[in-house]
Amino acid sequence: MGAKIISGTEIAAQIRAELKQEVDRMKEQHGVVPGLVTILVGENPASVSYVTGKQKTAHELGFHSIQDSQPADISEADLLALVEKYNKDPKIHGILVQLPIPKHINEKKVLTAIDPDKDVDCFHPVNVGRLVIGGPEARFKPCTPAGIQELIVRSGFDTNGAEVVVVGRSNIVGKPIALIMMQKDKGANSTVTVVHTGSKNMDAHCKRADILIVAAGVPGLVKPEWIKPGACVIDVGVNRVGEKKSEKTGKMVPILKGDVDFDAAKEIAGAITPVPGGVGPMTITMLMRNTVMSAKMSIK
Ligand code: NAP
Repeated sequence: MGAKIISGTEIAAQIRAELKQEVDRMKEQHGVVPGLVTILVGENPASVSYVTGKQKTAHELGFHSIQDSQPADISEADLLALVEKYNKDPKIHGILVQLPIPKHINEKKVLTAIDPDKDVDCFHPVNVGRLVIGGPEARFKPCTPAGIQELIVRSGFDTNGAEVVVVGRSNIVGKPIALIMMQKDKGANSTVTVVHTGSKNMDAHCKRADILIVAAGVPGLVKPEWIKPGACVIDVGVNRVGEKKSEKTGKMVPILKGDVDFDAAKEIAGAITPVPGGVGPMTITMLMRNTVMSAKMSIK
């Protein structure tokens, strides 16, 4: 029997509908409108497209949203002053500086200048620390890992005591999702193993997984025989493996593949995310959820 395909597109739409209701309620009961600013430095086409997607979603949800575009040669001092301006703005609950930023600016300095209580991307060391401590201390969850957790929970998989194996230990995906899944918390409380390029017997570790989360950035790294029959497989990888002509526009578009051999894996797994249409659509949605959460916390 083929695996259930976990549609990130559908689950993200469901969460956005829930958020919209929450935004409307907050406006009505407290007169508070979630405010999100996205700061873009320069005109990197990929960054422009990411920021446009974030702004579009914020707008659809009824946020107070600002797209603040700055020239590529803005000085570090001016960018820090801009962040400070939004830190002090009571109408802004979430500040996002789109990465990468030009080399003449110290990225770490900028990210740590964001008020941790408005750091909806969850990159500030204070928020990473809060995530490690867990419980009520944890304010925001970083967006991609938070989206992964939602996909697992909303697909009906019991995480309690489950063997979770994470392939990859990056600061934006592997490490935080491992932390999230090991917390004594709903939708978590799992036994977590993290594997990486230094690991031995990766296949044997993966084969134990009730929930296998793969974020390596290597197309087809996880072979079907590494998957435990019935497992939940979350493929975070997005790899450009070529180009094809779009049927809609006639333009050349990238061919994207995940880190898992999808066609073969879906015959063994119990559920699996596609690439694209799996984890991807969840990331922006979780950014919106963090902004709503931040706005809620601002209500005295
Ligand atoms: P990254 O920073 O390059 O980290 C990759 C991790 O995978 C590293 O820890 C690396 O191990 C490990 N790894 C690489 N090759 C491996 C191998 N052959 N065997 C075992 N481990 C291996 O990547 P990332 O930022 O976490 O992203 C991972 C993938 O997810 C990429 O394809 C990226 O495009 C995608 N992604 C998607 C979204 C989304 O919203 N859909 C968001 C973020 C990332 P070492 O530490 O030992 O080098």
